[in-house]
Amino acid sequence: AARQQGGNQYSFFTPSLQEAAQQKLQLTRELRAAVAGQQFCLHFQPIVELGTGRVCKAEALVRWQHPERGLVGPGEFIALAEENRLIGEIGDWVFKEAARWTLRWRETYCPQFQVSVNKSPAQFGRTQNHAAGWIAHLRQLGLPGRAVALEITEGLLLNATPAIGDCLRSYREAGMQVAIDDFGTGYSSLSYLKNLELDYLKIDRSFTSNLAPGASELALCEAIVVMAHKLGLKVVAEGIETAQQRDLLVAMGCDYGQGYLFSRPLAPEAFEHTLMSTHHREAGAEMKK
Ligand code: C2E
Ligand code: MG
Ligand code: MG
Ligand code: MG
Repeated sequence: AARQQGGNQYSFFTPSLQEAAQQKLQLTRELRAAVAGQQFCLHFQPIVELGTGRVCKAEALVRWQHPERGLVGPGEFIALAEENRLIGEIGDWVFKEAARWTLRWRETYCPQFQVSVNKSPAQFGRTQNHAAGWIAHLRQLGLPGRAVALEITEGLLLNATPAIGDCLRSYREAGMQVAIDDFGTGYSSLSYLKNLELDYLKIDRSFTSNLAPGASELALCEAIVVMAHKLGLKVVAEGIETAQQRDLLVAMGCDYGQGYLFSRPLAPEAFEHTLMSTHHREAGAEMKK
């Protein structure tokens, strides 16, 4: 269409490109200000033990409290933060905030509580092991490494440098657990599964959401669960939205589930309420014994 406009093609294309570039520049400026002003908050999505319905884990998901646009989801700014090396500072804030709530919840409602924190490839030094900072922070709070699981992607492992391997080993030596996020959607080279010590595979939502009797996703999920268990890993299914999906996952022995069926990601106070009611139910059951 642009070509047919002949001499006008530039006036057709240039402004929108310029506009896009300007918007990005503006967003980058705002994001920088957000980092400086700590305009972020965390939401926590329950991770449910499928066999029992218990909630003793949650994934921390960052949101940007934009002064004019309201709550902005990570899909709209994480990639930009990675490009502009703002992800390091955002990630450090996320980690500390997640650890702070985790300390509180372990002391109040759930001594075994574990928080999952996402750590994207851009947050790993390619030539240097930066694990010491987060490990020291946990020590300072008196939290065991076990209180945190790090969610990484297959892509990180596919291009892993020795420094990245060292970093993951340091985290695990400190007791932290490691999960492969969005499992099955990356390049799925299975060779990293034998080379690296891992704890969880998180089956991507694209598999879970198409689970139905007879669907190929069902065969794939079953195979993932069997493989993971043989490797000594636990499986978390992401994006469970229906009772049928949950039932199929329970039947195949999937360990944990996460999704709108159970709960959307919640503000810390609301999540705390969920934890509290679970805890009271359990305390009540104990007393009846
Ligand atoms: P993720 O780590 O795979 O997180 C799961 C995403 O799926 C979350 O989106 C969650 O709200 C959404 N979700 C959970 N259950 C359901 C469901 O039943 N149905 C549907 N349709 N969606 C569901 P969210 O919060 O928008 O996060 C998107 C992505 O942004 C995350 O994907 C993660 O890769 C990234 N992200 C979020 N927080 C952080 C962070 O603190 N650091 C980094 N590096 N990345 C983050
Ligand atoms: Mg995740
Ligand atoms: Mg995921
Ligand atoms: Mg996902």
